[in-house]
Amino acid sequence: MTEQKPIASGEIIKAVSEEFAANAHIDSSKYSEMYAASVSDPEGFWGEHGRSLDWIKPYTKVKDTSFAHDDVHVRWFEDGTLNVAANCIDRHLATRGDQTAIIFEPDDPAEPAQHITYRELHRQVCKLSNVLEDLGVRKGDRVILYMPMIPEAAYAMLACARIGAIHSIVFAGFSPDALSARINGADARLLITADYAPRGGRQTPLKSNADAALLHTRDDVKMLVVKRTGGQTTWVDGRDFDYHELMLEADEVQHPVEVEAEHPLFILYTSGSTGQPKGVVHSSGGYLLYAAMTQKYVFDVHEGDVYWCTADVGWVTGHSYIVYGPLANGGTTVMFEGVPTYPDASRFWQVCDKHKVTQFYTAPTAIRALMAKGPEFVETCDLSSLRVLGTVGEPINPEAWNWYNDLVGKGRCPIVDTWWQTETGGHLLTPLPGAIATKPGSATLPFFGVQPVVLDPHSGAEITETECEGVLCLKDSWPGQMRTVYGDHERFVKTYFSDYKGYYFSGDGCRRDADGYYWITGRVDDVINVSGHRMGTAEVESALVAHAKVAEAAVVGYPHDIKGQGIYCYVTLMNGEEPSEELRKELRTWVRTEIGPIAAPDLIQWAPGLPKTRSGKIMRRILRKIAEDDFGALGDTSTLADPSVVEDLIENRMNKK
Ligand code: ATP
Ligand code: MG
Repeated sequence: MTEQKPIASGEIIKAVSEEFAANAHIDSSKYSEMYAASVSDPEGFWGEHGRSLDWIKPYTKVKDTSFAHDDVHVRWFEDGTLNVAANCIDRHLATRGDQTAIIFEPDDPAEPAQHITYRELHRQVCKLSNVLEDLGVRKGDRVILYMPMIPEAAYAMLACARIGAIHSIVFAGFSPDALSARINGADARLLITADYAPRGGRQTPLKSNADAALLHTRDDVKMLVVKRTGGQTTWVDGRDFDYHELMLEADEVQHPVEVEAEHPLFILYTSGSTGQPKGVVHSSGGYLLYAAMTQKYVFDVHEGDVYWCTADVGWVTGHSYIVYGPLANGGTTVMFEGVPTYPDASRFWQVCDKHKVTQFYTAPTAIRALMAKGPEFVETCDLSSLRVLGTVGEPINPEAWNWYNDLVGKGRCPIVDTWWQTETGGHLLTPLPGAIATKPGSATLPFFGVQPVVLDPHSGAEITETECEGVLCLKDSWPGQMRTVYGDHERFVKTYFSDYKGYYFSGDGCRRDADGYYWITGRVDDVINVSGHRMGTAEVESALVAHAKVAEAAVVGYPHDIKGQGIYCYVTLMNGEEPSEELRKELRTWVRTEIGPIAAPDLIQWAPGLPKTRSGKIMRRILRKIAEDDFGALGDTSTLADPSVVEDLIENRMNKK
């Protein structure tokens, strides 16, 4: 069992279990040693670790990077060549051809799961590579994927990588408009999709969405369609191709195309929480190395493990931690087609038991949603196979962290709270489970080679005191860093390198405590200033969620005559709780005692739902506009999951008196 002991900051932390550390890849002394080496000699460190990949032509140059505003460039292993798919598949065939590479768990629990071996994965990807080449796709061409969470999505990613084509995945929940914009943005000539995407017992008509999208693209865009359900679709001869038909005839022999380390592997749009999504471009060599290394060490993956990341391949988490990282490491990765609450709120835990999952990685939004359904859904499952739990996407409030730790991990499993971005390719701040003691709500310390700094938001100067609060930036490059914004290098420079010269600007605020641990306080744009006190919204939200009747909360600032900014809270109650004036008062007092009078909410609006991106992140910029009474300018809402939520909030907006 884990022992709780205070360290320098005086806070209660969850210590590393000695037993876990004894079998882990990295224990605390190894972490300190390797971290020190990685920042004192990045060339040496990455030069050595880069050799864990299979290179066609080995590199002689390791790092050529600059964050200088007038000369931003990021290049790693520049003169080496490789093939990403060969690294994820071919090199494992001799030793693990019969090992399961992918476990596919369908939406409907009655449909049998599939276990796809590395040998079978190789066969499928080779055939599909030939199909893509026959359809005219060549090295450097862009291919759009608009797919359910089925093995064919992974085959398509890897087949693109195998022939040097650049994939751009559009999450299957997006509309035809979002899809056509991304096809046009990438100037793609091939779209890979499916007839329908089953999810949560419902079916999204992907093919008909794709048909609608192609009305607004060039005429020569072709479509390759996986018949997932066999449901009815319309068909345009000469434009639409049946995936399974072409695969039947395809040759099984295919030689992976040699690409330069810096050759783009994929384009992927950010979630759009803070504005117009950005088309992030990732490399082949540096990205793959970084995804593989973080997956291995952060989840402490060993031979025989069954690793499950619940993300969708439409997000970067699905790229790095369902497909590229786990497969580059020769692991077994679960692909889940469904949702956490179908057929009921125990699905995640049932799948963990069914496949004896050892590492489980999900988002705080899912944890909070399941927490609101009650403990019985977890308690009925065994979960004894689990060893490491992870979270990503938003700050996790201590309440949800504790629930995850106690109910799911039974106090046995280290929790890795991983802070990173689409732009970073892999984890930047994260505990290593055998090395770093954790504190609920903190992403703890940097991964190897990562040099976080906290800047003063006004002067831009680096704060050298350990305990501080400010803007989170990175001082130097890491191999998984994005290379550019697709087709708009200027936007890349402007977004990440011009506010704070010489640094990569993350857009997030953070606090560093006396132990040097990092706490993400939210987006810099979301920091509020109440009577001269700067405050991260995450702290107030986390206090609200700590109240037994609150399921979820989002906090924004709004113009306040006396305080400058007031605290406006949107609160979703637990199942079965009723809003009342009394509860409103209770919550005010609660936050006041939890944090202090300065943080007491000015206005609390009951929100049956919060506006979220399709990846489940709260879109505070929309909530801010509503609180500011500025409904006309909600900005880009194309990545919003459920627009009706916004209408409801506007209608019931609190009167500012
Ligand atoms: P956009 O950049 O388009 O506004 P986005 O920032 O939501 O969208 P992502 O790349 O999906 O796009 O998300 C990265 C952001 O998610 C981080 O900058 C951070 O704000 C938040 N985040 C991710 N993981 C964590 C974490 N473990 N703790 C706190 N915040 C996190
Ligand atoms: Mg972002």
